Amino acid sequence: MADTDVLMRVNDLVVEYHTRGGTVAAVDDVSLGINKGEVLGLVGESGCGKSTLGRALMRMIQPPGEIVSGELWFEDVDLLSLPEKEMRKWRGSRVSMIFQDPLTSLNPVQRIADHLVEAIRVHEPSTKRNQAMGRAERLVERLGIQKRRLSDYPHQLSGGMRQRTMIGLGLSLNANLIVADEVTTSLDVIVEAKLVDQLQEIREEFGITLLLITHNIGLVAQIADRIAVMYAGKIVEVGSVYEIFDNPLHPYTQGLLQSVPNIKFNEGGEDLYKMPGEPPDLSRPPTACRFHPRCPHAMPVCFRVEPELSSSTPGHDSACWLHQDHPEKEEVAG
Ligand code: SF4
Repeated sequence: MADTDVLMRVNDLVVEYHTRGGTVAAVDDVSLGINKGEVLGLVGESGCGKSTLGRALMRMIQPPGEIVSGELWFEDVDLLSLPEKEMRKWRGSRVSMIFQDPLTSLNPVQRIADHLVEAIRVHEPSTKRNQAMGRAERLVERLGIQKRRLSDYPHQLSGGMRQRTMIGLGLSLNANLIVADEVTTSLDVIVEAKLVDQLQEIREEFGITLLLITHNIGLVAQIADRIAVMYAGKIVEVGSVYEIFDNPLHPYTQGLLQSVPNIKFNEGGEDLYKMPGEPPDLSRPPTACRFHPRCPHAMPVCFRVEPELSSSTPGHDSACWLHQDHPEKEEVAG
């Protein structure tokens, strides 16, 4: 790992689930870098593999799933070669994950203060309880939660406060990377907007790197530096937020943008675009380009040869034959 700007790199990662219906490659040969200090939005429809990829970064894939092949590098540490005991130390202290429903991650019979104090003291055993409590108080106040709420149990907090508590857990351990998986999905739009503002402030103040996993491409426009678009277990486009919104290359990205209200793709106020078809069954994915059954531009080559993710302009990659050459490309559908 030589690239000092990259905090985490995924190389050729394959994650499979072994089910009665067959093997499902939820993440299929994905390579992606997450740069230090950036907000990377990972977007796509439900079931495209984005949450599996987020969990794989934390090595949190549970049976019947498994990481089959590939590499996960955190700076110069090969995460897939770490013993589970070492990996447990990394989770939380270097990489932290926030889920859609924080109630599943918070202990219902433990007060908020205990979650934070315990997390700090497990990772920093020399820190005294009163010191850890002081840090917890400063942190929750920074996140807009009154410190008296530290004596509450998780169910006594609102959904937004619980999400902020989870962010606080990551920050209390000085995590470098926070993976936020659909964290605003269960929140109303006002609380969602506030949480996005706070994530932006926290990112600037603490210098953290954020991977924001969401089906809502409009949300990432507000906060992300770059966007990676995932479809049927593959990354199909990556670029800066400006490139993705101003010049989307992949027809799937174009369809996602046209489906979003109140952005430049729907300035005229027409009916929102509805992408035809459904995401494929990943136990029997379509051949070659997996988007071809839904693509309005599909050509014969798209059915036969899989396009690789490659650069159209520096920093803007797409996996689509519309933007790459192939000898079979000019062939007319028969
Ligand atoms: Fe559509 Fe072909 Fe591009 Fe796939 S490769 S997105 S089918 S044009």
